[in-house]
Amino acid sequence: MSFQLKDSFGRIINNMRISVTDRCNFRCRYCMPEEGMVWMNRNELLTFEEITRVVRIVSQLGISKIRLTGGEPLMRKELHRLVKQIAGVEDIHDIAMTTNGFFLKEQARELAEAGLRRITVSLDSLDPIKFSEMTRRDYFHKVWESLELLTSLFPAPIKLNVVLIRGINDDEIEKFAELARTKPFIVRFIEYMPIGADDAWENTKVVPTHEIIERINAKFPPLAQVEYHGHQPADRFRFSDGIGEIGFISSVSEPFCSSCNRIRITSDGKLRTCLFSLHETDLKTPLRTGASDDILSEMIIDAVRKKEEGHLINRPGFVKPQRTMSQIGG
Ligand code: SAM
Ligand code: SF4
Repeated sequence: MSFQLKDSFGRIINNMRISVTDRCNFRCRYCMPEEGMVWMNRNELLTFEEITRVVRIVSQLGISKIRLTGGEPLMRKELHRLVKQIAGVEDIHDIAMTTNGFFLKEQARELAEAGLRRITVSLDSLDPIKFSEMTRRDYFHKVWESLELLTSLFPAPIKLNVVLIRGINDDEIEKFAELARTKPFIVRFIEYMPIGADDAWENTKVVPTHEIIERINAKFPPLAQVEYHGHQPADRFRFSDGIGEIGFISSVSEPFCSSCNRIRITSDGKLRTCLFSLHETDLKTPLRTGASDDILSEMIIDAVRKKEEGHLINRPGFVKPQRTMSQIGG
């Protein structure tokens, strides 16, 4: 595929995150309130056929990597059907998913058979009690059982996303580092971002990457950065004795905006060029009113051209998007 989707800063976009639902069976404190979430009506969600059409169009524009997310993507019934449809699109080389892991025990096998290549599971605590405090659900053991199954089904190491919040789970940094050395998991520490449903975020609750590295280095063979020439939000590090890998997604302290290669589509069909965008491009209406592939392509190219330079977290002009992470697709 020769076309390259490029923004006005010269960044090449080859990665799309697709949210398949805004619903979730967890209520992580940094993401959703305990009660009162209002879900979209089912007819507002793009159908699998509509999503696959969008994927076919963007694949012609140079997008080759897809990640399914949500809300909780596995709340969407028969997600493996969508995976299979996307896997059948020429020029899509990688299909991944981010999930809370709860439904994987039942669904992982058919997802792998349908063509899902990689899974990232969010796991914020290794302590069942703290896990239930953070997610407001007593589901640690179910997620842990899923993780054990995954290691036998997926060849690539499983990535674990850990959002650290100071004073809540930052005492587990060393336990997670140990896990990355003893199990086939790549632990990725994500800095807490101001995009939750409440206004609980404060800069002082963010545990910056440099602090995590210092803590890990004080106890384990020092971390050394892995040279990597692709585009990933995570900075990758290996322990200097060669055992285990840790990733850092430093969205607050060291944003990776200048090398961002992604766009997002919400479950109700809005194209977003940044997690923190204040503007969305509606693709659902044209999809449902007979727009041609060429028109949809033009809309996507035009939106990407206007992709923002970066987010402004921690800067005076920062405005929190109206939609939360679970509504946008994390
Ligand atoms: N439900 C799935 C899950 O939890 O993995 C997928 C959607 S979730 C919104 C995607 C990722 O966003 C998760 O790894 C979650 O931990 C992360 N996330 C949610 N709210 C966040 C916040 N305020 N700051 C940093 N990461 C956040
Ligand atoms: Fe659900 Fe994921 Fe948000 Fe937790 S982070 S409430 S699992 S969407």
